Amino acid sequence: MQTILLVEDESAIADTVIYALETEGFQTKWHTLGQAALADLQQGGEYALVILDVGLPDANGFDICKQIRRFSDVPVIFLTARNQEIDRIVGLEIGADDYMSKPFSPRELSARVKAILKRVKPGLTVESDCEFIIDHHRASIRYHGQQLELTRYEYLILKMLLQQPERVYSRVQIMNTVWNEPEASLERAVDTHIKTLRTKLRNINGDSDPIKTHRGLGYSVSGRVHES
Ligand code: CA
Repeated sequence: MQTILLVEDESAIADTVIYALETEGFQTKWHTLGQAALADLQQGGEYALVILDVGLPDANGFDICKQIRRFSDVPVIFLTARNQEIDRIVGLEIGADDYMSKPFSPRELSARVKAILKRVKPGLTVESDCEFIIDHHRASIRYHGQQLELTRYEYLILKMLLQQPERVYSRVQIMNTVWNEPEASLERAVDTHIKTLRTKLRNINGDSDPIKTHRGLGYSVSGRVHES
């Protein structure tokens, strides 16, 4: 079940919002202070979405949103007493997903919450912007969200190239890093593994070829990388 974090100091409004959301099958958590909500999120509170009042006793909702955006992509809907276009624009500019002016219909708010959650994939974080996600503990790499089935050498080569995207690594550098006994292997072995790696990447996304060959120099990879 998805939990919605509500930050609202007026209990009458909070009550109707909580009632509307719970009727739709959401769990809710309610804070009256901006700093308390921020601390909750910073301590790892997992929420599908945040409903944030702009006029809070201890902080401005816009400032709280800016601080949330430093570490989280959680969707945010602003609530405000003022129906001013400037607030709407400021709200969306600092990374809110939607905006509602008081008085609003709690059912309309629930509908917008559902619309946003449909748009946003569960667990969406900064890593979803990355083509490559390296999981060092599992010695695995995901590419465009899909697990790559890699041999040991392919994994080690790709991981090495991803350490510094765009940097060119020579075959000798790759061999010295990846192979236990580099002198026993031929540089051509690197080419062979690069070739199979390319095929696997292309099978997931045929539109791009992130591994580039630099003639006489070696290989590099391009793309955004997330490591866990
Ligand atoms: Ca308020």
